[in-house]
Amino acid sequence: MMRKLEGKIALVTGGNSGIGLATAKQFVAEGAYVYITGRRQAELDAAVEAIGKNITGVQSDVSNLADLDCLFTIIKQEQGHLDVVFANAGIGEIAPLGSITEEHFDKIFNTNVKGLLFTVQKALPLLPEGASIMLNASISSIVGTPAFSVYSATKAAVRSFARNWILDLKERKIRVNAVSPGVVPTPGYDHFGLNNEQLQEFVDSQASAIPLGRVGNPDEIAKAVVFLASNDSSFVNGIELFVDGGMAQI
Ligand code: NAD
Repeated sequence: MMRKLEGKIALVTGGNSGIGLATAKQFVAEGAYVYITGRRQAELDAAVEAIGKNITGVQSDVSNLADLDCLFTIIKQEQGHLDVVFANAGIGEIAPLGSITEEHFDKIFNTNVKGLLFTVQKALPLLPEGASIMLNASISSIVGTPAFSVYSATKAAVRSFARNWILDLKERKIRVNAVSPGVVPTPGYDHFGLNNEQLQEFVDSQASAIPLGRVGNPDEIAKAVVFLASNDSSFVNGIELFVDGGMAQI
């Protein structure tokens, strides 16, 4: 049977951990050649080793435009084009209104908004007609969470980018969709500043608020991203695909 991404060239930013790593694995299993990025070389090397074939790791910070230029120069030299972009790199940290610092604001917006925007913009010259771009947003784009307003605002911005960019890319027939995961424990949760017990309490409390009665796992998000990347979603454009067990739908 033909695999869903046979022969495609794909990029997953933040592909060395969590949702990005799970997606990179599924992209390769579906026949793609995948570039992953991350900031730390050791974690990047470990991810490349775990995936094993049809994978290249490029150390690159999405908030650093020179790093992005290097990344796309490498992909251009090695492949000449790029069919699939999963702009996934992102961070979330907790800060209630009253305690939000300029540093917190800049860090979260520079990664989740500026980094994502310039990832996509700098990828454009490599994208052929019919390419697919997925933006990793979050259910936070539409729901409120205590102490998470800056992160949530970045994800509302990401969702908005998808709506607007399908118009800017209309002539090129490039699709742009947002995927919005719900609660999916990953190494990213280490940034919340909770100990193991507190983290488990948080996850349990979240699970009880999810209609499916459990949190998700990175593979479940990756399957949705494969759908959006592939021709299976050829008429799906500009949507926000919630993969949240129903959490944001009630
Ligand atoms: P994670 O920490 O496991 O993975 C994040 C990845 O992004 C890592 O590879 C990290 O190195 C990379 N990254 C962070 N800042 C970067 C930068 N400046 N440049 C390059 N890479 C950078 O976390 P995750 O949960 O897999 O998160 C992936 C995406 O999913 C994020 O955008 C996050 O907001 C989104 N998301 C996660 C959840 C969840 O519950 N896990 C829910 C909704 C949305």
